[in-house]
Amino acid sequence: MVKRFYVDQYVDQILAGNRVVLSRAITLTESKLPADQELAQQVINRLLPYSGNSIRIGITGAPGVGKSTFIEALGNYLIKQYQKKLAVLAIDPTSQRTGGSILGDKTRMPVLSTQPNAYIRPSPAGTSLGGVARYTRESIILCEAAGFEIIFVETVGVGQSETAVHSLTDFFLLLLLAGAGDELQGIKKGIMEMADALVITKADGANQEKARLAQAEYQNALHLFPVPPSGWQVPVQLSSALENTGIGEVWESIEAYVQKTKQNQHWEKKRQQQNLYWFHQTIRQTLEERFFTHPDVAKQLKAKEQAVLSGQLSAFAAAADLLNLAYK
Ligand code: GDP
Repeated sequence: MVKRFYVDQYVDQILAGNRVVLSRAITLTESKLPADQELAQQVINRLLPYSGNSIRIGITGAPGVGKSTFIEALGNYLIKQYQKKLAVLAIDPTSQRTGGSILGDKTRMPVLSTQPNAYIRPSPAGTSLGGVARYTRESIILCEAAGFEIIFVETVGVGQSETAVHSLTDFFLLLLLAGAGDELQGIKKGIMEMADALVITKADGANQEKARLAQAEYQNALHLFPVPPSGWQVPVQLSSALENTGIGEVWESIEAYVQKTKQNQHWEKKRQQQNLYWFHQTIRQTLEERFFTHPDVAKQLKAKEQAVLSGQLSAFAAAADLLNLAYK
């Protein structure tokens, strides 16, 4: 009964836009304690009907490309120009190694982080990519219920995390730096194909000419890709967060995308597909967790690994032994 009361409290306070309670609820979702998890799931289930109304924007790019500076500029623009309420979340697979979050850090968005209309939440450290992606998905629901209209999900361009962010967001923005010559190096084709817009950052000062060249090159490169199912023509834009140029234009693109895909129903379809993806993903992840935490499996795992290493058992036979222990 006590728990019930707490669920109500979370729900009411989050719906009222209470950021302290919102933060606590997000912390609950990140907790490894089963009781916290259960409470979090109850809160999320109750808030689900109030979610879904935001524009979810994924932002990726190599470290140093200017992601946080860009979010700071775009966020402040949206608050000043349209009085939008926005949240910044992060998927940071590198925090595992460094032991501390890099993305979504308030100190990297000094002005935005002081705005009452902005909520910035760093990625939890020390969790697997699958884990962070799930928390982020749940955080999106909680933030939407709390009235945030635009949700940025930031990630670093290292491969796998983009797929996760892409499956969480409506619009996927790839930030790129104008380099000398071989622009396409270092950017995986798969990531470019996922993008709904490319933005060349730091198009200011001596960089402007290089940025314009890069823009033309990327535009050419994009022509080689098939037209995406949304029918959306992916733009290549220039921006300088430092000089505050191109920021409004990027926002106009996002708005045009929202309008177009809502009209041709791609918006809804994409969200449905994402729900299906997360349904399967959650099953996969839960099975894996349950398997590895199964007491008999945990007890024998090391021995089986050793047996595989020494050639005593084949990988398949060892796996079958453990699977049979868990699922008789
Ligand atoms: P992140 O690692 O992708 O988040 O990149 P940051 O936003 O931290 O930016 C990396 C560096 O690029 C910082 O030193 C910024 O000051 C600089 N920077 C970011 N945006 C711009 C820009 O629009 N123009 C210029 N000239 N420098 C920028």
